[in-house]
Amino acid sequence: MGVVTVKFGGSSVADAEQIRKTKDIVMSDPGRRYVVVSGPGKRSKEDEKITDLLYTYQKLAAGGKGSDAAAVFSIIEERFIGLKEELGASVDIESALAKVAADLTAGADADYAASRGEFLNAQLIAAFYGYDFVDAAGLVLFDSDGAFLAEETNTALAAELAKHERAVVPGFYGTTPDGSPKTFSRGGSDVTGALVARAVRADVYENWTDVSGFLMADPRIVENPRPVPVISYREQRELSSMGASVLHEDAVTPARIAGIPINIRNTNAPGDAGTMIVSGDAPEAARAGVRGISGRKGYTALRVYKNAAGGGARLLTPIIDAATRHGAAPDFALSAVDAATLYFASGTDATSLDAALEEGLAVVRADETSTTEGVALIAVVGSGVGADPGTAAKVAGALAEAGITSYGACFSVSETNIVVGVADKDYEAVLRAIYAKLAYL
Ligand code: ASP
Repeated sequence: MGVVTVKFGGSSVADAEQIRKTKDIVMSDPGRRYVVVSGPGKRSKEDEKITDLLYTYQKLAAGGKGSDAAAVFSIIEERFIGLKEELGASVDIESALAKVAADLTAGADADYAASRGEFLNAQLIAAFYGYDFVDAAGLVLFDSDGAFLAEETNTALAAELAKHERAVVPGFYGTTPDGSPKTFSRGGSDVTGALVARAVRADVYENWTDVSGFLMADPRIVENPRPVPVISYREQRELSSMGASVLHEDAVTPARIAGIPINIRNTNAPGDAGTMIVSGDAPEAARAGVRGISGRKGYTALRVYKNAAGGGARLLTPIIDAATRHGAAPDFALSAVDAATLYFASGTDATSLDAALEEGLAVVRADETSTTEGVALIAVVGSGVGADPGTAAKVAGALAEAGITSYGACFSVSETNIVVGVADKDYEAVLRAIYAKLAYL
């Protein structure tokens, strides 16, 4: 029997009914021995995540706004006590809550506050399943500067979990050497799930959320996009970096190191097979072709030309150096003998970008430069598509059929992608056109 590490996201553990579903899922496979949970998420669109409430509470408490803080804390308290009662879990959540309130009143920081959602929820869920509760404190390790310690964590987690046949571990946080909680970035319970999977050498890391895995395109743009049954780690990173994010970016690395497939599953549709994320050389990943199409709007494209520059690197290097110094590094940079194009993402701070370009261009002394704002980049991702003229021809055909003339760019920076640049206003139309041409190959 294989060992399965299971991670449930915030919406899967938002209320008692959802937590019951997770128990059914866990109990239906004896291999599901190690469970990582998020804090309770939103029960409806208007609801608030416990993590957000905890951040608010800490801010108010630190700002001396005691009565506002108390009002927020009572919402948190009500949710946890409600969960305990509805689940009939025998755990002293009241004392645990009182300690959180006392610590925060005494000045505990935001990381401590945020970590408590997972800490309390994991205790409740462990009691409800009849599993051991294993705290992430002292096992998921950061150094005193807050840098994550991957190998030390793996050793500590492996040693502790070996002592537990079945356990629930809180996601999202670990501790620094002085024992204070330190969180990963938002959505970080996915990372803990991958760390536990690696530590217990799981056969599969099941990541349960509220969608049945990846879709080939954004369903808000393409009607009824096809699901993606299998994708490689590399392909999923390229898709996620261009907007299709289901999983925290850093969650893939530990699983990839250990060669553990990640299965994205839906707590509300447990019968769906979801998406398997596997290593590129796994036989299931062998099928060449398009896996997904994703994109982002709002890039600024900078084009630079210098007569007899004698190598695009001479144009790119000064600009990238200046941009990096100003915290405005481009997402994509391409060059030819006397020309270069750089793409800066929409989140890039405008003042930093201006300063960087001024410095960089002063070094380059270009003959021509032009900037185009409002560029959307669409990535067509799939093993081998970057080297396949057939796919490139279809992408170009889709652009032509959609009547795109305003801004056009098409390039490939890896064997697994083709990137297309169009004006923001054409983004949806082009994405649909490319999908229609490529999804059914
Ligand atoms: N509860 C944390 C968040 O809201 C971590 C997680 O759910 O993965 O970001």
